[in-house]
Amino acid sequence: MSTGILLTCMLFTAVGTGTSLESVPLDWVKVGGEIGRRIDITVYNNTMVMDIDGEFLEPFIRKENVGGGYIGIGKTIDALVRFAKYTNDPKVIERKDHVVKTLLDAQEEDGYIGLFKKSDRVWKLWDIHEIAYIIYGLLMEYRFFRNESALEGAKKAGDYLIQNMSPYPERIPGDGDVCWEMGTTGVETAMLCLYEDTKDPKYLDFVKSYMKLDQWDGPIVKGRWGHIQGHAYAHLKRCMAKMQLNRIETNLDLLKPSRKVLDFILKDNGMVIIGTCGQHECWHDTQEGSANLGETCMTAYLIRWWDEQLRETNNSKFGDLMERAIYNALFGAQSLDGRKIRYYTPFEGKRVYFDQDCYCCPCNFRRIIAELPQMIYYTKDNFIYINLFTPSKATLTVDNMSVEIEQETDYPSDGIVKVKINEISQEKAFPIAFRVPLWCKEVKARIDSGDWMVKNDLAGNIWTIVNLWKKGSVLEINFGMKMRVIRGTQAQAGRVAIMYGPQVFCVSRKANPQLADKDLRLITIDPKTIEGPFPDDTVRKGGLKFTVKGWNTLNWYPLVKYDYENIVLTEFPDPDGEMTYLHVHNPEDPIIENDKFWNSNM
Ligand SMILES: [Zn+2]
Repeated sequence: MSTGILLTCMLFTAVGTGTSLESVPLDWVKVGGEIGRRIDITVYNNTMVMDIDGEFLEPFIRKENVGGGYIGIGKTIDALVRFAKYTNDPKVIERKDHVVKTLLDAQEEDGYIGLFKKSDRVWKLWDIHEIAYIIYGLLMEYRFFRNESALEGAKKAGDYLIQNMSPYPERIPGDGDVCWEMGTTGVETAMLCLYEDTKDPKYLDFVKSYMKLDQWDGPIVKGRWGHIQGHAYAHLKRCMAKMQLNRIETNLDLLKPSRKVLDFILKDNGMVIIGTCGQHECWHDTQEGSANLGETCMTAYLIRWWDEQLRETNNSKFGDLMERAIYNALFGAQSLDGRKIRYYTPFEGKRVYFDQDCYCCPCNFRRIIAELPQMIYYTKDNFIYINLFTPSKATLTVDNMSVEIEQETDYPSDGIVKVKINEISQEKAFPIAFRVPLWCKEVKARIDSGDWMVKNDLAGNIWTIVNLWKKGSVLEINFGMKMRVIRGTQAQAGRVAIMYGPQVFCVSRKANPQLADKDLRLITIDPKTIEGPFPDDTVRKGGLKFTVKGWNTLNWYPLVKYDYENIVLTEFPDPDGEMTYLHVHNPEDPIIENDKFWNSNM
C-alpha cells in the first residue's frame, strides 16, 4: 500500500517560489456539485433561453439608442464563447456563432460596431464602454475558437475608437454626467488584449499616451456623489488593467492601486461578510448591508481579480476570498433555477431580481460563472494545485505528462475531500498542493487509506504533499469544518453572523413563520444555543441549515424563557433571506470570533 512511497510535506513556497500558476484549459475540466449546477443552470436556464435576437442583437442592427444606452453584447459574447468551449454542446456553439456573426455583419465600413445613430456615437453613454467589451468578446472568440473574422472585427473596432477618441484628450463620455474612469470602463483591457494578439504598438501606445493608464492612481472615494468617482467596478477594472500592463512590460509601480484596494478591503471594512464590496455601486466602509449592496459586476470582478492575484502570488488566501464570494454574494445573485439575476445582493432586507437579461450585471454574472471551471485546479511545471473543492474531473499536464484527476466531495456541506488519480501514464513522484482554508484549525490528510497526517498550523496556507502517484491513488483530506460565530463591525457592531466553511447563513420569514410579522432587526440570539448543521434543501440538494434560540432585543436580560425557541438559518443564497447579522447579548463572548480576513496580512 504505502511501499515505495516518497512522502514529504512541505510548504508550497518551497515548490512554487517566484512562479505563477497556470489555469487549466476550459474544455479539460468538468465540474459537478453546487458550482457545476450553477454553471449548468446559467447556461441552459438563462443564456440559452433569453431573447438573444430581440433584447441583445436587434439594437445593433437597428442602430437606434434604446433603453439605458447599454446592452452588454460584448460581455455576452465572452460568456457564450466560454460556455461553448466548456460544454462543447453544438447548440451552445451554434448560438455563440450566431451572435458573433450577426454582430460582425452589423459592423460598419469605418469599424463602428454599436447601437447608436451617427450623431450620438462615441461620446454618448455608454457607447465607448460597449465597444470596448465588444472588442474583448471578439478577441475571446479568436483566442478560444481561432475565428479570424472576429480578430479582424476587433481590430477595426479598436482602430475606430482610437481614431475617434484621440482628437479629444480631455473629453469625458456622457458630457460630465459620470467621471472619466466610469465612462471609459473596459477600454484599456480591450486595447491591451488587442496588443497581446496583434503586437501592434499603436494599441499599447493608446493605453499609455491617451488613457494614461500607467500614471493613473485614483483615490478610493466612498459613497455615491458628484460624478460617481467612487464607482467600485470601474476603479477595480482599472487596477486590473494596470496589472495586465505590468504583465506586458514589468513595472511593479503599476501594482500600487491594487495594493491600495486590497488594504481598503481587508483593513478598512471595504468588504462585507458575503465577499463583495460597495453600496449603490460605490466603495463603502460602513458595513451596512441593505438595499443596493454588492453590485453583481463588482462581485464578478472581485472574483476575477483574486484569481489573477492567486496565480501571480501563489497566496492561497486569495482562494479563500474567491470561495467566500462565490458561495455567498455570487450564488445569492441568482434565482435557484438560474433564470433570474440580481443587480444587487443585500444581506439585510428583501432582495429583488433585475428585470432584464441585458445590461451590466446579468452579463458580468454569466461571464464569471463561465470562468469558474478554470478556478478549481491550477498547474505549474511539475505540480498540481487545488484551489476550489467541488466534485470535478480534470485532465492536467504535470512534467509533460497527462494526469486525470477527480474530486469526490460534499463540500461545502462538509470538509471531506477525496482526490483520485484516475489516469496517469506512468508512476511518478510529484507534488499535489491544496489550499487550507483560513478557517481550518486542523487539517488531516492520508494517502491510500494510510495513517492520517495532521497539521494545525496551516490555516490560510498551502499543504504540499509529494508522493509517488499511480493510477488509483487516493488522497483524502479532512478540513474539520466547524460552525463559526462571526463578530460584526461598524454598522453590525453588537451583532454576529453564522458561518460554516465558506458559507454564510441567513434568516428568512419563509423558514420562520413565527417571525412573519416581526421586525427581524429586533432579534437577539443566544449563540450558545446554535445547533446544526442539519440537512436542508431550501437552496440546494444536500444543503444545510442551523437553528438558534433568541428573544426580542427590547426585553431585559436575563430572560425567564426565549421568545423564539427555534430560529432557522438557511444558506445565504436563499432567495427569501432577509437578515444575516443578529444581535447578541455579549459581543465579547469567547464563542464569537473576528472574521479571519479582518486585518489578515496578504
Ligand atoms: Zn453592474
